[in-house]
Amino acid sequence: MGSGLDQLREVLGEVSDLQEAIRVLLWDQETYLPAGGFEGRGAVLSTLGRRAHDLFVSDQVTRQLEAAEAEVSSLDFDSDEASLVRVTRRDQERERRIPSELVGEMAEASTAAAPVWREAREKSDYAMFAPHLARNVELSLRRAEAIGFESRPFDALLFTEPGMTTSQLEVIFVGLKEAIVPLVKKIAAKADAVDASCLQGDFPEGPQLGFVNTVIKSLGYSFEQGRMDISTHPFMIGMNPGDVRLTNRVSRDLLTMAIFGGIHESGHGIYGQGISAALARTPLWEGASNGVHESQSRLYENLIGRSRPFWKHWFGELQALFPKQLAKVDAEGFYRAVNRVAPSLIRVEADEVTYNLHILLRFEIENDLLEGRLRVEDVPDAWNAKMVEYLGVEPPNAAEGSLQDIHWSFAGELASFPAYSLGNLISAQLLAAIRKDLPDLDDQVEAGEFGPLLGWLRERVHRHGRKFTPAELLLRVTGQELDARYWVAYAERKFGELYGLN
Ligand code: ZN
Repeated sequence: MGSGLDQLREVLGEVSDLQEAIRVLLWDQETYLPAGGFEGRGAVLSTLGRRAHDLFVSDQVTRQLEAAEAEVSSLDFDSDEASLVRVTRRDQERERRIPSELVGEMAEASTAAAPVWREAREKSDYAMFAPHLARNVELSLRRAEAIGFESRPFDALLFTEPGMTTSQLEVIFVGLKEAIVPLVKKIAAKADAVDASCLQGDFPEGPQLGFVNTVIKSLGYSFEQGRMDISTHPFMIGMNPGDVRLTNRVSRDLLTMAIFGGIHESGHGIYGQGISAALARTPLWEGASNGVHESQSRLYENLIGRSRPFWKHWFGELQALFPKQLAKVDAEGFYRAVNRVAPSLIRVEADEVTYNLHILLRFEIENDLLEGRLRVEDVPDAWNAKMVEYLGVEPPNAAEGSLQDIHWSFAGELASFPAYSLGNLISAQLLAAIRKDLPDLDDQVEAGEFGPLLGWLRERVHRHGRKFTPAELLLRVTGQELDARYWVAYAERKFGELYGLN
């Protein structure tokens, strides 16, 4: 028998082993599992998930946490040990409040809703999906009640962004809306300034995928501690410090899908590979939050990957792969093309500027549903009205409107959208801090030297894993709380210049 902390580490290691097994099976399910294997796989995942949950919320862990708390009370807040006990306590107290029958009901509701959502989207039949959304709203409210909140259920569901509140989000989004809506209007008046036609054509998949893998390797993603496969929706999944995997997708007609999808996922992967191995097999071996994770993918995808110096470096290599297709464009033209702004209906295809408005719309609708201001049957009308107000486009049908995302099929995914916008905001605030420390960043990027940037992120963000909340991390790294003005200033400068608005 070791100390309380040793015993706690041992049982958390067992929970983590079960979770790693779940992640390997999930990765397999999204990549190579034959259709016939899904039914059996569901049962395995459910058994392993229940085992991991039961062990984590057990009285044994509660007692070990108490003993460990006494042992680490004199340790530094930043130490791995004090952080482990602090974060595990927070997670465990929340998980213990959620009754296991509610966990089961949420899983069943999601399993039932996902295929209905697929069919409803195909037929563009919102009424078919509505009862499932109503059920997921009800389950989310019960989950929020169980976790506890003062006046706003969304607050309880925001536990994936520790420290963030609904009212803070509202302030952030109002600021964004006031900046973006007029910017989009000004850009629309000069829509012809950017021509993106060079991105469409016939681009064989093999060279595309080879190119993007070369790019992400130079950014810092290690193929010795990871791999890249193909899936319908790209994702990153970390098994353990030596095995952080990515997937990508590729389109023969559209050059940007694989390139920016791959760079995006590599940002997640580089983060995962950079978390201190000393935190493995604990709840700290993860990103600080979904928003912070997204800040890393978007920093690489947008702030670096869609920058002028980046394409000054890479365009020649890409053009050599597709000499006929890209004969009429140069690095500058390509940089402009990949930054074209055009209001559109589908979130996952949105450009950098309009993207946050898609998130704002979902945040407002979810919050109105949870607080009883909006009825489930009225969602498509509310959706379309907001699309017209924010983006000036109206979905012709529900498939291109309120049915486009799979997220509302999952009871556990209500309140998960804001993380995408938080990621954008955090990435711009981090970049401002990076530029102070690396004044030659643009020259380095143009020379294909991504090491200094990687070193900065490793030291200040990645290695800490989940030790700090997003607010704690930002304060340590930038000396400030989250401030949306960094992203707004970045967008106004970049797109003002691109579209000649100033
Ligand atoms: Zn992402």
